[in-house]
Amino acid sequence: MTTPSTDATSPQAEAPAARRLLIVGPPGAGKGTQAARIAEELSIPAISTGDIFRANVSGQTELGLLAKSYMDKGEYVPDSVTNDMVRSRLAEDDAQDGFLLDGYPRTLDQVEALDGMLTELGSALDCVLLLVVDAEEVVQRLVARGAESGRSDDTEETIRRRLEVYADQTAPLIDVYDRRGLVRRVNGMASIDEVTQSLREALATR
Ligand code: AMP
Repeated sequence: MTTPSTDATSPQAEAPAARRLLIVGPPGAGKGTQAARIAEELSIPAISTGDIFRANVSGQTELGLLAKSYMDKGEYVPDSVTNDMVRSRLAEDDAQDGFLLDGYPRTLDQVEALDGMLTELGSALDCVLLLVVDAEEVVQRLVARGAESGRSDDTEETIRRRLEVYADQTAPLIDVYDRRGLVRRVNGMASIDEVTQSLREALATR
């Protein structure tokens, strides 16, 4: 019979891998790119509310028409609409063993709604990954992305409005999650590969 060197009660026991994650940062910080990479490595779905809205806009659904009217101005889609959409997404099978939420929650109301959803599912967040970037650099990145991709909310005026809305409505969420000890800050100004590596390390040392 062998005795395992670590068990659940030993101080060296590894914490279970973090699989219920958020990635947060201003528009243009690289959340989408990094979320796709980290989610693939962990075999969890990356759930981007912006992508779900854009898919609905392309599909010309009722939700898409509503969302577009806010997105094109750089404003947030109303919480009630966004919360319902995330609730049904988190109830899907592939999200039962973890998820990486990208772009949600973005308001304090959404934080509360997410807490409620996770409590109902008997789970809780493991970690909040914060990409720290320079605001001016971000504007330049997004202007370039808009020129390449034709994303209709990547015009300089809308980008500046999105940054204001982020500072006003989303930055305060960091304090809430900091108080819970969940936030890990990563320099988002490095290369894509370096940022991914820093995110892996942040998750490993959580
Ligand atoms: P993103 O792709 O995350 O930059 O989101 C693009 C746009 O979709 C935002 O500027 C908002 O108009 C809308 N959006 C995405 N996520 C949310 C959210 N959690 N709450 C409200 N609006 C959102």
